[in-house]
Amino acid sequence: MTQNWVRRHHAYAVWEITLKCNLACSHCGSRAGDARQDELTTAECLDLVQQMAEAGITEVTLIGGEAFLRRDWLEIAAAITAAGMRPTMTTGGFGLSAGTCAKMAEAGIGTVSVSVDGLEAVHDKLRGRPGSHQQCLKSMRLLGEAGITVGCNSQINRLSARNFPELYLLLRDAGMKAWQLQLTVPMGNAADHANILLQPAELMVIYPMLARVAQRAYNEGVAINAGNNIGYYGPFEVLLRNLGNAQGDLIWQGCQAGLSALGIEANGAIKGCPSLPTSAYVGGNIRERKLRDILVNTPELTFNLKEGSDEGTSHMWGFCQGCQFAKLCRAGCNWTSHVFFDRRGNNPYCHHRALALDSRGLRERVTLARKATGLPFDNGCFDLHQEPRDQAWPEGDELHLTAADIHWPEPWPAWEGPDLDGLQLDYQQRIQPALKIP
Ligand code: SF4
Repeated sequence: MTQNWVRRHHAYAVWEITLKCNLACSHCGSRAGDARQDELTTAECLDLVQQMAEAGITEVTLIGGEAFLRRDWLEIAAAITAAGMRPTMTTGGFGLSAGTCAKMAEAGIGTVSVSVDGLEAVHDKLRGRPGSHQQCLKSMRLLGEAGITVGCNSQINRLSARNFPELYLLLRDAGMKAWQLQLTVPMGNAADHANILLQPAELMVIYPMLARVAQRAYNEGVAINAGNNIGYYGPFEVLLRNLGNAQGDLIWQGCQAGLSALGIEANGAIKGCPSLPTSAYVGGNIRERKLRDILVNTPELTFNLKEGSDEGTSHMWGFCQGCQFAKLCRAGCNWTSHVFFDRRGNNPYCHHRALALDSRGLRERVTLARKATGLPFDNGCFDLHQEPRDQAWPEGDELHLTAADIHWPEPWPAWEGPDLDGLQLDYQQRIQPALKIP
């Protein structure tokens, strides 16, 4: 098992170094705000840095909460650099000064991703703090002036999706070099605001929009990074999985939790992915076991090692269980399916699935059945409804998203290639039947 782990893990770690935060995001999965009572000491953090280097990890992204609110965070970043790994950071960008940016560069932080979730009104509403959008743009400028490469990460939900093309232009002009995109899912605070979550049927609007934005971004030198819960295998899979390059050769290869990814909570709890729920996916704590031992010997960190085998699909159920892509896909992002249904293996946020159902005149919708408990990284549980595509949308759902709701700033370049509706239709009528869809 040890050899297997060492062979497989090129290893990217995302490390929540504190849960303390200066924002109050209504979609925050970790329910950040106050520091955890039992966060690792400086000495424990520095020891963990050494253990990560010994385990073969090459890049460590520092997150929070807000990572820079931890007093010794630059000491930790410098230790990561000294140990031969690459420290990067994800930040809400609220309150970064020019002096701090200069010290970050000194500590070896070469790339920072700023979280921006919409135009000003939507971002400030989602982030729970007026002025936070302006602070993001200021932080992007200061980071760039310090010589740090600036990326952004954004959540796609029913509030932010309407203005995504405009948001792209704003962030491009603010110096963004790469854009990480992710669908908002019902974890933590987001589980308490289910009305802002995209309904699975609304993916039919989201994916053509993302394809148009990604194609323009690629042509303008901005790399679109499709997050793990974007996909899977629809007509825009190659475009979205290859930074906007429709000629690329990457497609979704299944969840990498515990394979090439690692998540660390501020109290030393270890998960295969930083987003996974704490209760079901913590394999151990570095206060009690060595990191390598947890990585190699706990089922919570090794469940993905069975990929490609029949055993690797035994967790799958519902639509995903009978899917043509089951062995490769393994139900997409485990985080997403788990936080919807309290178990992994059936993913409602799948473009291929939405298209397959649509071609049969069907759609899916989720409704909250059980609330989350109120702890960091917790989840509730949803009911899944399959219904006629043309059935009237439930009354009172004011955020329901249609293609007409997407704002396209003029002039937006024409799509290069077959028209988008035609691509979706071709996938449904010609390609999906050939795939023997369930
Ligand atoms: S239906 Fe499930 S298994 Fe099939 S491609 Fe979508 S997420 Fe993957």
